[in-house]
Amino acid sequence: IEQKKQALPPELSDGSVTSVRVLYADLHGVARGKDVPVGEFERAIEHGLAFCSAIMGTDLRHTPVVGGEEGYPDLVAYPDLSTMTLVPWEPGVACCLADLRPVGDHAPPADPRGAVRRAVAAFEELGLSPVVGPELEFFLCERDGAGGVRRYVDNLSMVYTVGPQADPRGIVREIAEMLSKMGLGAFAANHEFMNSQYEINLHHADALAAADRAFRLKCAVKDVAAMRGLVATFMGKPFNDQGGSGFHIHFSLERDGENAFAETAGEDGVSDLMRHFVAGVLEHASGLMAFLNPTINAYRRLVPDSLAPTHANWGWDNRTAFVRIPPERGGATRVEVRVGDGSANPYLATAATLFAGLHGVRERLPLGPPVGGDAYALAGEKAGPPLPATLEGALDALEADEVLRGAMGEQIVGAFLAIKRYEVERHRTWVSDWEISEYLHHL
Ligand code: GLU
Ligand code: MG
Ligand code: MG
Repeated sequence: IEQKKQALPPELSDGSVTSVRVLYADLHGVARGKDVPVGEFERAIEHGLAFCSAIMGTDLRHTPVVGGEEGYPDLVAYPDLSTMTLVPWEPGVACCLADLRPVGDHAPPADPRGAVRRAVAAFEELGLSPVVGPELEFFLCERDGAGGVRRYVDNLSMVYTVGPQADPRGIVREIAEMLSKMGLGAFAANHEFMNSQYEINLHHADALAAADRAFRLKCAVKDVAAMRGLVATFMGKPFNDQGGSGFHIHFSLERDGENAFAETAGEDGVSDLMRHFVAGVLEHASGLMAFLNPTINAYRRLVPDSLAPTHANWGWDNRTAFVRIPPERGGATRVEVRVGDGSANPYLATAATLFAGLHGVRERLPLGPPVGGDAYALAGEKAGPPLPATLEGALDALEADEVLRGAMGEQIVGAFLAIKRYEVERHRTWVSDWEISEYLHHL
């Protein structure tokens, strides 16, 4: 502990911090944790913080779906002190992330952060380290006073507009400044294509740090919005009259500190390693979507002309493709996986995509031809295999994908599938407002 204490920021002992928030992501990517008065934090470092393990097996409505076999024993969250930051929007609060472990000989918890650690370790066996850059889009809403929400700004806000017309209360700018202050590498905030839709970009980092940052970005956006009386949402497609919010993830692999996706000798400037990685991602595209697009709602976003993909394909700087190869070369050579939306758990999304790419790298899977131009307009085989059109389709694909299942681990996949199948079933029997407006009067 003495050693660990040295890693703590001075604010923890000089009286300026009064509480440490210990956070981890549940399977949905929702932040869970406890606030620990600073005087008790040393104890938390040593013994961890206990939680009811039912937490990793509940749906978003808090119904326990799996995990009862062992009587919901404790799981323990151990603070990772290397992630300690101050929380700029709550002076006096510091925050760190935690790794989950079981108590005694109980089954290990379905720890999303642990999946990223395992993916990184698998690449390290090949002498490679993944570098990841997350981009998250989200909408800001106001409460409408009748239990619903309306967009924070409309009409005047357009893509890349800045200042009071795009963000009348300066909230997005404020969040980006806070994220930057926290050391999370936020380097730009912009208004996106849709009314009241914004994006904050994060610098690339090693895979675990990048997933941590994406998770923390979502927490920060939701927290600061809540403090300002707004609701921020990362759900994929919140409005029928607007496009959705993507969670684009950029990937590259380093070998000995050099970008191993770059190939200065090659005509295209990209290496075979990169081609194999992309081939792996596309081979597992359908199963991957269970993690990248994990809600019923996510599939409403994946339509033509949305800048989100509809087929498993790739293209050179092509925003209509599943994988875009951005134009930068040399050290910035990378691939952008565009299918995910903000409802994805950043850890599961990052880990699953890395494992898919790893399969391509290990098996030297061949990469097919790129799509050229508007991929939505391509017919048949030229467009690539169509993506699952529903969550159920993606869950079926994950269930059938032995590579992804094995890599992500039964602990995670079993719980995830059970929770999500339950979500599908609840939705299947729910009468929606669309059905009422379509049928009630006419039939
Ligand atoms: N909002 C689009 C999506 O749903 C992406 C727009 C962009 O390329 O930034 O993925
Ligand atoms: Mg964007
Ligand atoms: Mg992007």
